[in-house]
Amino acid sequence: MMPNDIRTSIFRKEVLAMSAYKVADAAGLIKLDAMENPYHWPEDIKISWLETIKDCPMNRYPDPEARQLVQTIKELEQIPGQFDVLLGNGSDEIIQLLLMALPPTASVLAPAPGFVMYKQLSDSLGLSYHAVPLLAGNFELDLPAMIAVVEQHQPAVIFIAYPNNPTGNLFSVSTIEKIITSTKGLVVIDEAYAPFAHASFMDRLVEYDNLLVMRTVSKLGLAGLRLGYLVGKPECLGELNKIRLPYNINSLTQLTVNFALRNKNLFDVQTQNICGQRATVLATLNNLEGITAYPSSANFILFRTQAGQADAVFASLKQQGVLIKNLNPQGGLLQDCLRVTVGTPDENAAFLLALAHSLGLE
Ligand SMILES: *Cc1c(COP(=O)(O)O)cnc(C)c1O
Repeated sequence: MMPNDIRTSIFRKEVLAMSAYKVADAAGLIKLDAMENPYHWPEDIKISWLETIKDCPMNRYPDPEARQLVQTIKELEQIPGQFDVLLGNGSDEIIQLLLMALPPTASVLAPAPGFVMYKQLSDSLGLSYHAVPLLAGNFELDLPAMIAVVEQHQPAVIFIAYPNNPTGNLFSVSTIEKIITSTKGLVVIDEAYAPFAHASFMDRLVEYDNLLVMRTVSKLGLAGLRLGYLVGKPECLGELNKIRLPYNINSLTQLTVNFALRNKNLFDVQTQNICGQRATVLATLNNLEGITAYPSSANFILFRTQAGQADAVFASLKQQGVLIKNLNPQGGLLQDCLRVTVGTPDENAAFLLALAHSLGLE
């Protein structure tokens, strides 16, 4: 341990004030805490993937522009020719890149509850982060409150997750449009859950100069590879490209994501299964006495326990071998809330059974 006086004379105060992003240990547990796709690849796909990476030149640096992968993404997502694609080591890295390019006095705005990395990364860089609470009840954006912050603080960047994590809902399109036109700052629509949502702002990029759309392959089923991407005007992405580390996407990730996206029908089947299970889990949750589950356009479901019970329910589930996410410690609108990722039918059944047991209902 460094003595405290050395730390405080070396590191920035905002770094000293932070705590590290903690990931729960899932060893031996049914893992429904991190919005991962529960399915593996069929054997024949694995074999042809191994063939693809067999001759990967690992002695060489990767293609710094990942040209083949970018081409595949542009084709598959039907990204209009006038827009560029910037790749990141997960979309987390893209959020960091964007924030690192801002002046130290810049403000950042996002609704709360929202994705924790927006605040974590803003804090780490000493930027002013403004969180505007969503409306209680339906978790919609509070337009007047958002506009008030835009007018008062003129945020350089506004993050809007669509669907939102951890609430799972798609915000009103017309409200988002009003936010985009209210600001001179950039608006990033974070579409991490696009594979489950059937809704997107990708085809709206042409309408707004300040709009960026961010995606990731993590929730689709490739969380281990770390690849996210940002789509927007070349002038804007060009600035971010200057501060991107040249080899941020490793060779195996480039080859493997390219291979996977070329076999996308595989994921389409898995995604459909997950969406089907989402409906089953939601309905079953809402049939449990004392539980209120919220509709979701993502691959997870937020639900509320009776007042004061969330911590105990979470602990009981874990004790029964099921790991979900306890959001109660975050307080605010998330008081008494837990979040479960939709898994395989067996995993979901095990979760629901354990939950009924925790509630004394079985
Ligand atoms: C999971 C998640 C991400 C992070 O994605 P990575 O590409 O794995 O870094 C980004 N935004 C939201 C809203 C998420 O839930």
